[in-house]
Amino acid sequence: EAKNQENSAVCFYTTQLESQYARNMEIEAHVNHALEAAQFDVQFQPLVSSGNPGATHIEALMRWRSPELGDIPPSEFIPIIENSPTINEITHIVVRECGRLLKSPGVFNLGYTRLALNVCVSQISSAAFCDQLLAWLKDFGIAADNICLELTEGHLMKNVAQCGAQLQRLRSLGIHIALDDVGIGYSSFAHLLELPLDYLKLNRILIDHIDKKPRNQALAVGIVEMAHRLGIKVVAVGIEREEEFRTARQLGCDYLQGYYIAAPMQIGEISRYAKDRPRSDLQLKNETV
Ligand code: C2E
Repeated sequence: EAKNQENSAVCFYTTQLESQYARNMEIEAHVNHALEAAQFDVQFQPLVSSGNPGATHIEALMRWRSPELGDIPPSEFIPIIENSPTINEITHIVVRECGRLLKSPGVFNLGYTRLALNVCVSQISSAAFCDQLLAWLKDFGIAADNICLELTEGHLMKNVAQCGAQLQRLRSLGIHIALDDVGIGYSSFAHLLELPLDYLKLNRILIDHIDKKPRNQALAVGIVEMAHRLGIKVVAVGIEREEEFRTARQLGCDYLQGYYIAAPMQIGEISRYAKDRPRSDLQLKNETV
């Protein structure tokens, strides 16, 4: 009986792996055509400042709408292509769209001071990619100070030294650096010591119902305290409810991002959003800072 159960677990696992592998192959096979067919698009999500209405950011997020495969989230397709040259073409599109947004009338006059874009550790570890990125920023007329690069911790462990050297170089040119998904998973205090970081973004899992979870609060407040002592600002991601918004602010998070504030939106919408909300209006209803 036990043996049978074990066998069926193995079969299930193998079947799952096989279908996952088939899906990955399918995605990989479609990516280049999707680039040619301009199926990739960028959406933008605002971050609001918790204390100082003067400083607000916008994060650029890649979207892929495939007529054959449907909508494929970046969390699914980025890991499949992150070690291929295609990932640089994706970043090129993101930088191009950031340049377009910066040129939208009024967006940056109204207090949206920084555009955050995601890059893979495999990209940032390469001096050639960093040169390319700087050239793109120049081509699209984007000042280094307007950009924040967001790195996810997952693959940092293997590449801390290489990545750190390139990040130092980019930061010395004025680019800001954020570490994403902190607090759950691969976090390592070594990253805080070795990398030139401006922002830590707390993982969404930590923020989920944080108002009802004293242990999550304790962890978040510890990270905030540590980050602040190191001169690093903290962003709470995935704020979906007012109670999460209030709690994250009370715990000292400097910036807040999530559906409760605004979902990611198209370039036209975010331009309107920015124009309709001069920065002092960005605080939420019923809130006094
Ligand atoms: P991230 O940098 O942590 O981005 C935030 C993710 O949380 C986005 O998912 C956003 O849509 C989602 N989100 C924002 N507010 C809420 C909320 O209140 N609730 C929930 N449940 N989700 C919320 P998205 O767009 O699916 O992106 C997932 C991840 O894919 C990003 O995580 C980022 O790491 C990566 N990514 C996105 N675009 C790019 C890109 O152009 N290049 C690279 N390398 N990675 C990218």
